[in-house]
Amino acid sequence: STIVKKLFLAGKVVTLNQEIDYETAEEIALEYEVLCEHEVVVDVIEELLKEEEEDTEAMVKRPPVVCVMGHVDHGKTSLLDAIRDSNVIDREAGGITQHIGASVVEVNGEKITFLDTPGHEAFTAMRMRGANSTDIAILVVAADDGVMPQTIEAINHAKAAEIEIVVAINKVDKPSANVERVKQELTEYELIPEDWGGSTIFVPVSAHTKEGIPELLEMILLTAEVMELKANPERNARGLVIEAELDKGKGAVATVLVQKGTLHVGDSIAAGSSHGRVRAMMDDKGRRVKTAGPSMPVEILGLNDVPNAGEVFVGCENEKEARSFAETFISQGRVNMLADTKSKNMSLDDLFTQIQEGNLKELGIVIKADVQGSVEAIKQSLLKLSNDEVVIKIIHGGVGAINESDVILASASNAIIIGFNVRPDATAKETADREGVDLRLYRVIYQAIEDVEAAMKGMLDPIF
Ligand code: GDP
Repeated sequence: STIVKKLFLAGKVVTLNQEIDYETAEEIALEYEVLCEHEVVVDVIEELLKEEEEDTEAMVKRPPVVCVMGHVDHGKTSLLDAIRDSNVIDREAGGITQHIGASVVEVNGEKITFLDTPGHEAFTAMRMRGANSTDIAILVVAADDGVMPQTIEAINHAKAAEIEIVVAINKVDKPSANVERVKQELTEYELIPEDWGGSTIFVPVSAHTKEGIPELLEMILLTAEVMELKANPERNARGLVIEAELDKGKGAVATVLVQKGTLHVGDSIAAGSSHGRVRAMMDDKGRRVKTAGPSMPVEILGLNDVPNAGEVFVGCENEKEARSFAETFISQGRVNMLADTKSKNMSLDDLFTQIQEGNLKELGIVIKADVQGSVEAIKQSLLKLSNDEVVIKIIHGGVGAINESDVILASASNAIIIGFNVRPDATAKETADREGVDLRLYRVIYQAIEDVEAAMKGMLDPIF
């Protein structure tokens, strides 16, 4: 009745059972933030973050955003450095490359944006927050070492995110390099070279001699061309926080990747719990810029607080809107919000309900076991459980303890984890608890299979 009265005084006559429009609900939710149901506030945030319908007419080509993944020591960092160096043509122009967390490389007049943090963990951690940062992954495999556990992890992270993979076979300068062997090994993971009848691009490179780097960049542009990446530059900016820190002199400094629209100096923006007006912007070459369009990374000044990496930023109509966005965020607390959305992550316990409600068509599973034979055995038996209602999809299978990378992959892909004769390490356990990832450990294979089967039929005994 308080709300009905309030609306009445505001000139809106409504009854108790009547639906009100979104804007009115939002105003009320913001005003009564302490009292209102958590879900309303989450809805407000989700609504703000929701994609608007894009005007297809206004869509124009944008540069691809690329990340570098692969096994440790296979040369991810060296390759990124070599790519950046190969591009510093105008050294005399005095541009000192600035580390802002991402860099833009220009090839034949076309741009490519590289995210500077190598590794699939950073990438999937962003995806876990609901943010898709990357269009193309460069999978780096050392020619003298071949496919290694983190190579497989990287492949599965990229596949789960449905992004394109371009393979860079690195260290071809080494006498022990064996390009053909790497190609052969990767066929097992459905990465088949074009000359073998597949569709994956392989480029032999050396981060040391720079051999193959121009070809690699060309192949990335070619892949991007086929993907027809587009965005509308004529709208409020929206994108991701790549990194952020507090600078003594400048205040909060954040590097953001604009994904849609154009960000201007003077725009009001909100990024997670922080907000403000963009006071100044700098590109990856340390040059001051006034605008940043789609796929452009820029460092911005003017936020009132340091946002988290991976947070979405939105350009707002005015400062008031930016502030209320940030305040809603704070009042709920990001941590709380994540904790409360736990139920969104898949669990065997509510698998049946989800299937019944038609919410679930696919059950993603990450398998970790002590030996490869068990991984395969569990995989094959689980795949057989697929039926008309739900398809079982093995997102990743590997040997060894359950690690954080497995958990964030499961979380980002709404999957469960099955461990056979292995345990999660401490960080993995903590992350799984925090993110609400269903992690199940078994010592007998058929019990794992039985549990999944029972869950699919709604007959799983609850565990306490
Ligand atoms: P990351 O862990 O994947 O980032 O790998 P790094 O870039 O740190 O490289 C690991 C090691 O491999 C370093 O000692 C590099 O100098 C070496 N390395 C990287 N790329 C090449 C290459 O093309 N040729 C040779 N011979 N060594 C390389």
